[in-house]
Amino acid sequence: MSRLIDSFAELLGRAPRRKPVREEVSSEITDLHNRKRSDKTRIANIKIELAHKAQHKQPEKLRRKRWAVLIAVNLLFVLSFQLDIQMLEGALTASRFVGFHFADLNAALQVMLAYKHVVINLLIGTVTVFILWWLLGGRTFCSWVCPYHLLGEWAEILHLKLAQRKIVRDHPFDRRARAWFWLIFAVLALVSGYTVYETISPTGILSRALIYGPGLALLWVAVLLLFEIFYSRRAWCRYACPIGLTYGLVGVTSPFKVQYHLESCFHEGECRKVCLVPHVLQTVIKGHARELDVDIGADCTRCGRCVEACPTGSLTFKFKAPGDLI
Ligand code: SF4
Ligand code: SF4
Repeated sequence: MSRLIDSFAELLGRAPRRKPVREEVSSEITDLHNRKRSDKTRIANIKIELAHKAQHKQPEKLRRKRWAVLIAVNLLFVLSFQLDIQMLEGALTASRFVGFHFADLNAALQVMLAYKHVVINLLIGTVTVFILWWLLGGRTFCSWVCPYHLLGEWAEILHLKLAQRKIVRDHPFDRRARAWFWLIFAVLALVSGYTVYETISPTGILSRALIYGPGLALLWVAVLLLFEIFYSRRAWCRYACPIGLTYGLVGVTSPFKVQYHLESCFHEGECRKVCLVPHVLQTVIKGHARELDVDIGADCTRCGRCVEACPTGSLTFKFKAPGDLI
């Protein structure tokens, strides 16, 4: 139960738990750290492998596959509209796939708060999407479907190149801001009767622009991307987007996780360098893990970049049995 509470609190912006003191970790974990510390050959081999990787940068295969899935999903909307094949109608906010209603969970919440009644089709769409994203892990939506995520990743590549040349530097914000944004837009929908967030949601703006053609709202998306390139790395998805938080909340009890294995980890930290939400990987820092196998928190987007970056295979995808979720 405590890991669920931690996961929930971290989503709302609480800092990850502090490093445990010696008395808080089992003797099994202490012995394991001692054994690993003395394995000098393994440590040296990992360093050689990392130096080789840095010189001969390989394409991230899973990342490419994920981009292909994300583009394919968004293309399906476009083609369905352009060719009028009615397989997938609507946009990411609300759609119908071969007759089944789907609704983005945050948009559905905004609509319910704004109009103060629940339409049956919206309810069906919300429940269907809830079950789907619960099974896949809520924030899987972000890295595998959201069109802004893809642009955000490309902006991040530019940001990192500029940062490497010391032209820009990252300015992190307080992660609690996202929960406040979520609350403010919920209250705005309730009191104004409008789905206010939808007017500034880069996810909705991009999805509609792809399907129905570009509009002035794209300027807002451009401003966000420029802000991320020149001022704050992945700022929107890290500190602001209420959709990300909604899906994160769905994913708190999801059976699909990224799992960390202390036994094989040598704490070189490659995973944290590539992660959109590195606070969820605090447990990989030497001395932080409280268990041998640790579920990564619900803010994780299941993008798989850490799984691919880890030189020791210490992060894996895992489907958990129902009894093992709490
Ligand atoms: S946090 Fe928001 S904008 Fe970012 S990927 Fe998720 S839904 Fe898209
Ligand atoms: S923990 Fe791994 S899978 Fe999750 S968001 Fe970070 S890099 Fe992606």
